[in-house]
Amino acid sequence: MTPANARKIAINEIADRKLEASPKETEIKKSIFETFGSYVFNTQVMRECLPKEVYKSLEKTIKRGEPLDPAIADTVAAAMKKWAIDCGATHYTHWFQPMTGLTAEKHDSFINLTPEGEAISEFSGKMLIKGEPDASSFPSGGIRSTFEARGYTAWDPTSPAFIMESGNARTLCIPTAFYSYTGEALDRKVPMLRSIEALSRQAVRILHLFGNNSPGILTTVGLEQEYFLVDKKFYMQRPDLINAGRTLYGARPPKGQEMEDHYFGSIRPRVLNFMADCERRLYKLGIPVKTRHNEVSPGQFEIAPFFEPVNVAVDHNMLVMETLKATAEIHGFVCLLHEKPYAGVNGSGKHNNWSMMDYEGNNLLDPGHTPRENAQFLVFLAAVLRAVRKYAAVLRIGVGGAGNDHRLGANEAPPAILSVFLGDQLTEVIDSIIEGREEAKKHGGFIELGASSLPPLPRDATDRNRTSPFAFTGNKFEFRAVGSSMTAAPANIAINVAVAAAIDEIATKLEQAVSREEDLNVACQEILQEFFKEDYPVIYNGDNYSGEWPPIAEERGLLNLKDTVMALERFTDREIVEIFEKYRVLSEREIHARQEILLENYSKTIAIESQIKENMGRTIILPAAMEYQKIVADSLISMKGALGDAADLTTHKEFLEILTTHISGLRGALNQLREATEQIETNGRSALEKAMEYRSRILPLMRKCRDHADVLETWVSDDLWPLPKYNEMLWIY
Ligand code: ADP
Ligand code: MG
Repeated sequence: MTPANARKIAINEIADRKLEASPKETEIKKSIFETFGSYVFNTQVMRECLPKEVYKSLEKTIKRGEPLDPAIADTVAAAMKKWAIDCGATHYTHWFQPMTGLTAEKHDSFINLTPEGEAISEFSGKMLIKGEPDASSFPSGGIRSTFEARGYTAWDPTSPAFIMESGNARTLCIPTAFYSYTGEALDRKVPMLRSIEALSRQAVRILHLFGNNSPGILTTVGLEQEYFLVDKKFYMQRPDLINAGRTLYGARPPKGQEMEDHYFGSIRPRVLNFMADCERRLYKLGIPVKTRHNEVSPGQFEIAPFFEPVNVAVDHNMLVMETLKATAEIHGFVCLLHEKPYAGVNGSGKHNNWSMMDYEGNNLLDPGHTPRENAQFLVFLAAVLRAVRKYAAVLRIGVGGAGNDHRLGANEAPPAILSVFLGDQLTEVIDSIIEGREEAKKHGGFIELGASSLPPLPRDATDRNRTSPFAFTGNKFEFRAVGSSMTAAPANIAINVAVAAAIDEIATKLEQAVSREEDLNVACQEILQEFFKEDYPVIYNGDNYSGEWPPIAEERGLLNLKDTVMALERFTDREIVEIFEKYRVLSEREIHARQEILLENYSKTIAIESQIKENMGRTIILPAAMEYQKIVADSLISMKGALGDAADLTTHKEFLEILTTHISGLRGALNQLREATEQIETNGRSALEKAMEYRSRILPLMRKCRDHADVLETWVSDDLWPLPKYNEMLWIY
């Protein structure tokens, strides 16, 4: 079977495909409330199986992040073990998030042998709290020197333990943080937990000024996840999808997303079947998935859960991604989480809905109903505006990644310039505060204005601008620059740190005013006016996709860190290191380590892509093109032999000329690509220099290869073309 045949066979097989067998009818009939959380060691289970004092002590740790009392660990471990074994689990694992951007696990069974050879179950408090995976192969950016390669995992009780189900295996997964022998963070969770605490410490200062005595606050996050599905039969014929997660070649399809007929369209039965299966698994894991729909591009979809505390939301998002991939395979699909699997159609992101909540459950970004609530809302709003303007680089670093560079700034995703969308109504309120306008004072102060013109802010009116990277959507901010494949931890760490720093600034001024016995209202008015004036340039309610925006943004002094390397370069800037250190989220050493790991990750990603590009070009595309070139040439010769000078050879000549031009063009570009990659790899360069070269030399050469190959795809006989085409992968499933 030649590869081109394999394509046609795949198409026929997909056409004949029956729907995957669903779970048993009894499983389907179970109410989602019965299913929900059945594989989670949640507060309900704990309350049932733990002694009251133990539960109370643990609850304080879970809800408020208070330190865990080691004395209760054994009791909790015993209860957790019994529950897990009752659910069918045989093994347990510390589930952690090293700097690879993925999750990691090493399974141990509960079984131990007595000296008499009898099997007993074993799982102590110590095993629950601390693990020591052989972790010397995880990236540490030089933090773990080779002589002390140990890394430890530590239980994070704020994220519930759960049972991972895969085929016939059931494994108890214990969310953990991962750190070095010297206590430095080696993962994404440690700084995340630190950033939550940092923000909480600052936010309560504002709450206290306004008479709210909540001892802390929670960051809440809802993550909308976009993804593509492609039939596995096509996927298996694309080495680029298999190894890079995105297509490195592929001519634009005659029909992409132009007709806008996919977005929110009816969901095909095969896809809905997959979604329902996926959701059932997620419900068991206690993940509150709420929405599902078709996305903008054909073959693209979205799943969105209800919001949760950020630490849990981020862990749950990792599980959503894993579950999407695992369930897709069962249904004969492959789930592509890459930010740009296909050039020329919509990319995938992760909309990160972010807000803050006090312990009573009040949303601090809800405009509220009373003058006092409105004033407090405006103070938090001012802090977010300051955070996005002043710490744009921090936020940009939080969404960096080689994959996301293909999406940010492309014409259907927010640009790399960070601005805030507030909508006309809220902007108008800010205008009147800045201008100290009469109507703002009508009722004796802006706070009254807040009361009369803020609520009710219709949510629809605030959510219309889909082009903004950081949009206020009624009672939360939606950070839309996060990439679909990445963990949302760095983005949220960045928001938390930046907002903590901005709140600190405002709180300090307000506290000083109050300690001078100034009226809080008057002080608020002055300080808000000052902040809104300074941060006004970051507000942009226009079309962020349009070409007019970047020059305007530049005039306004907003940063435009166009790619990951530009962003990462700034990570070690004095101001950035200072805020991470000041709020104890990352030390300077941890930042240097992270910068190096992320730069290396960037270079490695492109190095791998360029090798795949080269291999596919030389061993798949050129051979097919040359085969066809020979067919055309042979045909030309026989035509000439048969008809002599009377033969009309215009078509043959045109084909041959185009084929020959792009065959030699592709060959030349492939050779240049190989030479450049070898040069970059052989000279001793720093991680930053290397990343810069991959960006400036390799990316353009890769595009050049693609340009030639994509023309060839549209001229070579369809029967001979070995790679599944865009219109097939996007539309046939
Ligand atoms: P859409 O963006 O599709 O209009 P919604 O505005 O209802 O939908 O919500 C999108 C996401 O924002 C959901 O995950 C939702 O749970 C989340 N969300 C809603 N309120 C908050 C909040 N206070 N904090 C964080 N996320 C929230
Ligand atoms: Mg949204």
